[in-house]
Amino acid sequence: CRGMAKSKFEYVREFEVLDTCLRNCWVVVRVDGRNFHRFSDQHHFVKPNDIRALQLMNRCAENVMNELEDICLAYGQSDEYSFVFHKKSNWYKRRASKFMTHVVSQFASSYVFFWKEFFPDQAILYPPGFDGRVVLYPNEQNLKDYLSWRQADCHINNLYNTVFWSLVQKGGLTPSEAQKRLRGSVAAEKNEMLFSEFNINYNNEPVLYRKGSVLIWQKVNEVSKKKIKLPNEDEEKEVEVSRWRSETVQLHCDIIGNEFWEEHPDILAE
Ligand code: ATP
Ligand code: ATP
Ligand code: MG
Ligand code: MG
Ligand code: MG
Ligand code: MG
Ligand code: MG
Repeated sequence: CRGMAKSKFEYVREFEVLDTCLRNCWVVVRVDGRNFHRFSDQHHFVKPNDIRALQLMNRCAENVMNELEDICLAYGQSDEYSFVFHKKSNWYKRRASKFMTHVVSQFASSYVFFWKEFFPDQAILYPPGFDGRVVLYPNEQNLKDYLSWRQADCHINNLYNTVFWSLVQKGGLTPSEAQKRLRGSVAAEKNEMLFSEFNINYNNEPVLYRKGSVLIWQKVNEVSKKKIKLPNEDEEKEVEVSRWRSETVQLHCDIIGNEFWEEHPDILAE
């Protein structure tokens, strides 16, 4: 029975500790696939970028944004996704464990749920896991720098992986030979190797691979037909009604420079 009466066991609740996120800070939850090096091998992901896997990640993030409250932006690349809760959010009284566990479990169940839409010919062989963490950023610059850090990471890894897999797949090198060739090389040298040896201009590689994915909200005007009956008329009349609805949009743009924030001042607005 769940009435007002308290059992003698109730005191154990006092062992729970508060984990309230400091007010007025941006709350970032980042999830990352557990041992996706192995997961991507076992599921025959195309190297270095399996587009199906990236689109599945984006679909999961879209589901997280739609199911949970107060997420104003998400950024994803590789097997990770970051979710930004608005600094004014009071969802679950800002409990860190609620933010983190709802994001990570919604994301993980979505990954399995939507798998077959993106991998119709490949069964999912075992249940994947994701880790999660919460980080608070006390001002806009810190938050923007956090997102820049993740996008810079995407760029560095993708440039490396593009050369590495070109050397292996097209250049006939073994993985350890490719690794040796790349050791100590700077970005300009990697670009040059791609261009001179494989005729690849890195800047022409798909923007999804180079920049990752940004999810934000966009207002769309939805027009639908509705039957109404006016008090003075016998017949039902069909009228058009329009209403504003928010839906997520996927972008693959630079978020390191100021342009993105200038074009979308509403994202961080109060
Ligand atoms: P950890 O549990 O520590 O996160 P991990 O094996 O997942 O270990 P990460 O640093 O997260 O290590 O790297 C993710 C790995 O998943 C990369 O090695 C990359 O090869 C692979 N991967 C992720 N997404 C894709 C993709 N879309 N296409 C190909 N490979 C991918
Ligand atoms: P919250 O998101 O706050 O947890 P909730 O709806 O999940 O909301 P709970 O207090 O966790 O609320 O209660 C779980 C509910 O799920 C119960 O009301 C119960 O009706 C239903 N439920 C869970 N397991 C079963 C089950 N095996 N059979 C029938 N109903 C179940
Ligand atoms: Mg319950
Ligand atoms: Mg890791
Ligand atoms: Mg991982
Ligand atoms: Mg990762
Ligand atoms: Mg419940």
